[in-house]
Amino acid sequence: MEKKELLYEGKAKKVFATNDPECYIVSYKDDATAFNGLKKGTIVGKGVVNNQVSNYLMEELEKEGIPTHLVRELSERETLVKKVKIIPLEVIMRNIAAGSLAKRLGLEEGVRMASPVLEYCYKDDALGDPMVNEYHIRAMNIASKEELEKIAEYSFRINDYLTSRFAAIGITLVDFKIEFGRTSDGTVILADEISPDTCRFWDTATGNKLDKDRFRRDLGSVEEAYIEIRKRLMGI
Ligand code: UDP
Repeated sequence: MEKKELLYEGKAKKVFATNDPECYIVSYKDDATAFNGLKKGTIVGKGVVNNQVSNYLMEELEKEGIPTHLVRELSERETLVKKVKIIPLEVIMRNIAAGSLAKRLGLEEGVRMASPVLEYCYKDDALGDPMVNEYHIRAMNIASKEELEKIAEYSFRINDYLTSRFAAIGITLVDFKIEFGRTSDGTVILADEISPDTCRFWDTATGNKLDKDRFRRDLGSVEEAYIEIRKRLMGI
């Protein structure tokens, strides 16, 4: 597979064109940002862990019948993915109150929600990714009714699968963010990544945070936390 021009550079990843018009190469960086880019830093080795963990989970999700962008891992940091147009939504699933939800609703961090909560944020850095509901999404033509139904269905199934997958390795899946894209034929598939950058993982036994909150909140041992997630999940 031939890597061609850089198409896009985001906060954590670069996307390259390839000689296949239906595929991109994603390259994971060690750069970390938080609070809408206000806090910047490096988490050494993060790109490798996120690439491996995300591919591992997407492969499992494919087996569960969730279509994803994964084609194949090319190297420690690079993956061949299906070309999609990202639907500009951060789809957030929450099992336990934390972060912005705890703040917004005055809930104590760690309180389990009686049922999973699905939220959408409109991906727009200049606006600070405002929360939107199905009506905004329809009214702004961000996604069709059918696409939204698929996105919600996949998101709940992904949450069910990941919650039990992580419970089996002693990790509580608190919340996570996923993104979907449309392939050239209009199919909605899971894209972007699922990693300690985009999930809250708490050690079930100790309550220790094993995710990007260690960076956001200056808790130390950030690299170690990412590696611990990979170790428990993949044994490496
Ligand atoms: N999240 C993310 N990218 C974002 C915002 C949130 O991956 O731009 C993830 C975050 O890691 C957490 C979940 O989405 O697992 C819910 O995040 P929240 O809304 O609580 O925002 P935060 O407290 O991270 O600002």
